[in-house]
Amino acid sequence: MYGINRTTKVTGTSVDLILCSIVAEILIGIFACLSIRCPECKLKWVWYAVIKKDVNQWVPWLLSFEKCPQCAPIIEGKTVFGKEDASGQKHVR
Ligand SMILES: [Zn+2]
Repeated sequence: MYGINRTTKVTGTSVDLILCSIVAEILIGIFACLSIRCPECKLKWVWYAVIKKDVNQWVPWLLSFEKCPQCAPIIEGKTVFGKEDASGQKHVR
């Protein structure tokens, strides 16, 4: 109870806390981008999703994709998922 009361009075340092949390989130994001990668081809999945997918699509894609977009065409031999080039981005669906 005392701890809850105390946390409501630290408005002086809350700006610093917010800044720290923002910086921490950015660092975690960068870390995630660089560290979550395919064990086979070393493709950085988060980075790939960020640069290849739409802003509103890359998170759902990351949560739903089952195979590495770079390895899948090689392993499966049928899908060209991730091979989006000048012919258009939306031919997957
Ligand atoms: Zn891969």
